[in-house]
Amino acid sequence: MTDTPDSPYDFDLFVIGAGSGGVRASRVAAAHGARVAIAEEHRIGGTCVIRGCVPKKMLVYGAHFAEDLEDAQQFGWTVENASFDWKKLRDTVLGDVDRLNGLYTNTLENHDVTIFHERAEFVDEHTLKLSGGKTVTADTILIATGARPRVPECPGHEFGITSNEAFHLDELPKRILIAGGGYIANEFAGIFNEFGTHVTIINRSDKLLRGYDESLRDRLLQISMMKGIDFRFNAEFRGIEKTEEGCLRVSMTNHEDIEVDCVLFATGRLPNVEGLGLENAGVELGDRGEIVVDRFSKTNVENIYAVGDVTDRVQLTPVAIREGQAFADTVFGNKPTSVSYDCIPSAVFSHPPIAGVGMTEGEARNKLGDVKVYLSDFRPMKNVLAGRNERGLYKMICEGNNEKIVGIHMIGPDSPEIMQAAAVAVKAGLTKADFDATVAIHPSMAEELVLMK
Ligand code: NDP
Repeated sequence: MTDTPDSPYDFDLFVIGAGSGGVRASRVAAAHGARVAIAEEHRIGGTCVIRGCVPKKMLVYGAHFAEDLEDAQQFGWTVENASFDWKKLRDTVLGDVDRLNGLYTNTLENHDVTIFHERAEFVDEHTLKLSGGKTVTADTILIATGARPRVPECPGHEFGITSNEAFHLDELPKRILIAGGGYIANEFAGIFNEFGTHVTIINRSDKLLRGYDESLRDRLLQISMMKGIDFRFNAEFRGIEKTEEGCLRVSMTNHEDIEVDCVLFATGRLPNVEGLGLENAGVELGDRGEIVVDRFSKTNVENIYAVGDVTDRVQLTPVAIREGQAFADTVFGNKPTSVSYDCIPSAVFSHPPIAGVGMTEGEARNKLGDVKVYLSDFRPMKNVLAGRNERGLYKMICEGNNEKIVGIHMIGPDSPEIMQAAAVAVKAGLTKADFDATVAIHPSMAEELVLMK
């Protein structure tokens, strides 16, 4: 509990940015007794809630009905005149985003956090100027401004969109080109493809999803191609031209031009540090433009902290939330806490999804040497019945004689749901024998994890 009757500052804590990390930090600091204010220039909730993970997952659900309706016939259902209405789904999703925006705002208000719906800029290390003209002071300042899509500097880039705009399209494009081969590219490729848009992914390298296990990346590529998604690798973006017919002609290295109706840039995200006046407070930036922090999320300035994507540690919502919580507990809860970045599970909500925790096979062989890999390459029962030739692949990476599990990687239906529980076991340092000793749940896909030979 912070007791600050004589504080010379307007607030004990001022948070810039009301995304996942900023909201958690504000709420917890306020619960510890701090007088908290937060500034947000867009909408409360940030990328994840307003234009990221949450609406994206809703679109993934909506898109998957395309396959479910097709498969349903093999299960005896007659589905006549099925059709898809993009505007209906879009508006349902945006309606739910409004609801969540309201809930996040209520959370802050219920904790007596003062909300400023405007930009904040540093005047000095304790003073901020708000875009409405007001100046406020705070003992501690937390920067939680997140990141934004990187758009390549090329002629005609203004004709392209990013994931921010993808949720608001007036209509579905007939043909879309997605630049990038990471999370957003593969997730939106799956979504648009299921809706019937022709999708081409172009990527500068010859690999998708850097950081994920090679076998899973290959499997996703193979299945995506089977579903009709086109890929062009080693294709560096050159530019976009608008044709007389109103289409977009995209040029790239090593490949012919391609004509599409929409270009989506999914080429990584940049920390939001511009226009914050960081130079006025002396906050140091790293090589990638990120705010440099220590393990307690403190910057080089004693009273200024930063959490979430703006620090470019691990760009994942649950990590930002943990960083926000740890910051508030450390600074206002008298409980120094740092986040463990070891064994963070993650997932790509592609069609089918991928999930992973711990080391990939390649990393384990490089770092540990003595590695054993167990594989299960199987066709889920539902796919067999549906006549869908799509196989799942689970991989378990074990170390040394006692076969401690150092990584689990999966591609297949519901793999993120299954992975969350498996990640507990990997984080806890369990062994292959611990998995083997657990009775299978039959019939399920998850049972493959305890039946690997
Ligand atoms: P990613 O880092 O996943 O992928 C970026 C892709 O763009 C890579 O294929 C990369 O190629 C390519 N690229 C990077 N820079 C350039 C450039 N200058 N020119 C051309 N291509 C480039 O980024 P995303 O934009 O897909 O997503 C951003 C982050 O958001 C992710 O890293 C992730 O942390 C988070 N996210 C998480 C999700 C989830 O948890 N399910 C969903 C969506 C986003 P190369 O491989 O050659 O570097």
